Amino acid sequence: MESGTGRKYPWSYRRKRHALRSRLAGLQSRLPEPVRTVLGRAGRRYSIERATRDLPPIRHVQIQTHSRCNADCVFCPYTQSWHHAHPGQMSEALFNRILRELKPWEHLLNRGTIAPYLMQEPMADPAIIDRIEAIYAAFPNTSVEISTNGEPLTPKRGEALVKALIGRKHEIWISHHGMDAETLKRVMDTRYDRSVANIVHLLRVADGRLNIRIVGAGQSLDGAISYFDESRYRSYWQQILAENSVPERGVEIETIRFHDRAGTLRREGMPRGGIIREIGPANPFRCYRVDEWLHVLHDGRIRLCCMDYHGEVELPSLADTTLVEYFRSETYKSLLQSVTGAKETADDFICKRCQTPGG
Ligand code: SF4
Ligand code: SF4
Repeated sequence: MESGTGRKYPWSYRRKRHALRSRLAGLQSRLPEPVRTVLGRAGRRYSIERATRDLPPIRHVQIQTHSRCNADCVFCPYTQSWHHAHPGQMSEALFNRILRELKPWEHLLNRGTIAPYLMQEPMADPAIIDRIEAIYAAFPNTSVEISTNGEPLTPKRGEALVKALIGRKHEIWISHHGMDAETLKRVMDTRYDRSVANIVHLLRVADGRLNIRIVGAGQSLDGAISYFDESRYRSYWQQILAENSVPERGVEIETIRFHDRAGTLRREGMPRGGIIREIGPANPFRCYRVDEWLHVLHDGRIRLCCMDYHGEVELPSLADTTLVEYFRSETYKSLLQSVTGAKETADDFICKRCQTPGG
């Protein structure tokens, strides 16, 4: 009895296929070098896409290269978070392994974003510039996103950041939630003079050549709490730029409203939205954070999204699995079903409390 041969096709078919491949290889070898390179690249990409057809289309990634933030924003659960209680720095080996394991999504990431931060302050990482360089080396056309509160953005780090990002796809978000020393201290607990001086230095060195957004969150989503006058925020920054002879080119100034981070904010006197939607078989839901994004903590744990500060949704660690294994696992399928409503979840499931799906 023949068993375990693994033969899927008859010999005649395999011979014909082999002959056809040899002829194609022969024809290809006669093509000019640049054409061969393009065809080879397209072929490799086709093979990867075919082999990863069952994987979600990951376009955006947030990697927590270390756990710390120097600030303590009143609307941020950071000081109560899992990573604050379990501090650490991501090893270079793990960081590089994640980049390697993201290769199946190369075609999407080269049109998407890689952010070397997650629920903390990237510029407090002494290795941040090396991390940025490693990202561009792996995905030359991705957009690197940095979000900083400005205080750890020393002049030296600011200059290195400009050098690393210039001429490459990027986005810099500057969180500056105040309009003077008093409001900044009250909302972020950061030092006003140092933060403003660092931001101004960055803007001056960038000289309009970077994409920078300065963002202030002065009011709660429902307007019940107000720390500063949002309508004056833009002119406040325009005045700082004018006083320091910094061009406004490339700089956007905007205000946003803060919220309870899907109910993970547990501070007295701060907003608590509670359950704001039903999700389940009768109430389907969509949030692209679950199937277009990947979020990894400093020790390799995978997180649902940038709202899950406390690790409510327990997911595997990259210490125990690879990315492809994770996205093919029953755990991931079950997570997808929970978020989309394909299956029932607990009454207080995090997505049911989320006021701003997507982040
Ligand atoms: S909002 Fe950002 S800057 Fe403020 S405490 Fe949280 S992580 Fe830090
Ligand atoms: S709905 Fe909110 S909590 Fe749920 S995955 Fe999206 S961003 Fe995260």
